[in-house]
Amino acid sequence: MRQIESKKLILASHNAGKLKEIRQLMEPYGFDVASVADLDLPEPEENGTTFEANAYTKALAAAEATGQIALSDDSGLCVEALEGQPGVYTADWAEKDDGSGRDFGLAMQKVETALQEKGASAPDQRRGYFCAVLCLCWPDGHAEYFRGEAHGQLVWPPRGELGFGYDPVFQPDGHARTFGEMSAEEKHSWTPGQGEGLSHRARAFAKFAEACLG
Ligand code: IMP
Repeated sequence: MRQIESKKLILASHNAGKLKEIRQLMEPYGFDVASVADLDLPEPEENGTTFEANAYTKALAAAEATGQIALSDDSGLCVEALEGQPGVYTADWAEKDDGSGRDFGLAMQKVETALQEKGASAPDQRRGYFCAVLCLCWPDGHAEYFRGEAHGQLVWPPRGELGFGYDPVFQPDGHARTFGEMSAEEKHSWTPGQGEGLSHRARAFAKFAEACLG
């Protein structure tokens, strides 16, 4: 595992929800972090068919553009009854028909409609998981990957206004509330050196921190 030589990192994401969470997770380590959004760098096209491939595309673009080590996150929601969809296309399911941007209310409704078409009404027919792959990439193209998953069930109607994306329809196992009803601290449920965390992102981050942040 290649180690990080300096306390500087570029966050290779334009997603405000992800950036907020990764900055919170990085906070205890005292890194100087800047995002590709802060630096006005363009978003590369994601045409991979795996979370790892898309995470690499984003991290490599940021590392090459800045000459610094970059950390990306590719993530999504995989629903069992839908054969793993929307999966790597989770953000695409939020694209509005008129091309005017993303609407996650619409995206959650699409997942619900697809579940209803499958007749999935009982909780055990509505299983799914969030997956996050963090990719740490150096300007020479070397990469390390860290994957985290959070399993649970899809609920309807959406509950909670916290978090982002599909948080209001995802209730993690062992909890009676959705991610949308949890504070960021509860959603992470992780502090350095203690356990694996609750959310997919915190779980991937815990592996990254253990391997690379000491
Ligand atoms: P991508 O990684 O840019 O392809 O986008 C992943 C999409 O998955 C995001 O736009 C969110 O809609 C969704 N997603 C990823 N992580 C979370 C999460 O922690 N909560 C809710 N939605 C998420």
